Amino acid sequence: TKTIKNVICTFCGTLCDDLEVDVTDDGKKILQVRNACAIGAEKYLHVGNPGRVVVPRMRQADGTYKDISYDEAIDFTAKTLLKAKKPLFYGWSSTNCEAISAGNVLAEKTGGVIDNCATVCHGSSLLAIQDTGVPSCTLGEVKNRADRIIFWGCNPAHAHPRHMSRYSIFPRGFFTAKGQKGRKIICVDCRETDTAKVADTFVRIKQSYDYEIIDAFRTVLRGEEIPAEVGGVPAEKIKEVIEILKSGRFVTLFFGMGLTHTLGRNHNIDEAINFIRDLNDYTKAVLIAMRGHYNVTGAGQVLGWQYGYPFACDLSRLTMARHNPGETTSVDLLVRHEVDACVVIASDLAAHFPFEATRVMASIPTITIDPHISMSTELSDLHIPVAIVGVEVGGCCYRMDNVPIETRKCVDAPEGVLEDEELFNRITKRVDEILAEN
Ligand code: SF4
Repeated sequence: TKTIKNVICTFCGTLCDDLEVDVTDDGKKILQVRNACAIGAEKYLHVGNPGRVVVPRMRQADGTYKDISYDEAIDFTAKTLLKAKKPLFYGWSSTNCEAISAGNVLAEKTGGVIDNCATVCHGSSLLAIQDTGVPSCTLGEVKNRADRIIFWGCNPAHAHPRHMSRYSIFPRGFFTAKGQKGRKIICVDCRETDTAKVADTFVRIKQSYDYEIIDAFRTVLRGEEIPAEVGGVPAEKIKEVIEILKSGRFVTLFFGMGLTHTLGRNHNIDEAINFIRDLNDYTKAVLIAMRGHYNVTGAGQVLGWQYGYPFACDLSRLTMARHNPGETTSVDLLVRHEVDACVVIASDLAAHFPFEATRVMASIPTITIDPHISMSTELSDLHIPVAIVGVEVGGCCYRMDNVPIETRKCVDAPEGVLEDEELFNRITKRVDEILAEN
């Protein structure tokens, strides 16, 4: 047995970097995982499950699947993409930046649209950040400095289980030696989540009144009067929260889809950013989006540095990238039948998109690239299995605070299974060959 230390957990956007993984001497099997939360540990422990798909599977006319070789799968994918007028490449949040970059080359070459999971989660945050800017910091700074934490519309107790112990509520840092005792935790939500239960102050709001309540916070902060109740919250409670925040040395607002997906959407985030800016007149204050999949932040980073937009990039006009949410976003493209082939990569489109968009995806040629069987793989014409990033292959991933972290390989992938990056390079090569032949 050998132990690999400082392994990066590639499950959620917290990207915990302190896992210890025991593997067999031949580097083929994971025996034990320490330090991970239950969901993180499960990712490592189920890698060797007997039912794992290790060769590409092509759907037959009768709905069954037939095993085919990687060469055949690559040829089918290249021909499907070249035949399509506008293919959609959706997903990217559970693979490394190297694969995303290689995939972007393929999308550019085949005139496709590249979109990532932000399109149905923090896309509105990214729009607001591009419009308004973002006063932010790293999770390390939160641990070492923050004494006032707000969780707004997010529930890390379930979605990011170690976030609270590593960075936000419990850890002792350089200027936060008392840990939880030195911090005041505020939770704003329309329901009492498990995160709300560990908060010092729970502000229960009426669903979709986030904008009004942030506006009320800003109004009170400026010393103006507000109505006796805003969005289900009494004025006294709003004033109490503002006093708690003003008396802090370092405020951090963590926000999730409870804020990005309620009425107001990106304007909620505009308002939250402006609230944090206002708070900086009194104390240091920052905000950080609670990103879900482990490299959804990286997917936005790579697209951002390559094309200027963090999601929904239309490359069908080969000379320029276009980004127009509502027009170049995956759900809209699918429900309007504007894409005629689909590559789902490192995400499960069918599990998260509206029914109508999923129905269209199932009706056009679709290739799903994923280590696991998912709803998307079962609606696809072709499922190409790949190695698992952070377990069987390393690579760069971005934590929720935009810090790039090099993940590491713990065990070998099953024999013959390709990595995402290599797969995209080979599909691009095949596209080049077909173009040269014609
Ligand atoms: Fe993995 Fe997230 Fe759990 Fe950390 S909190 S161990 S990154 S699943």
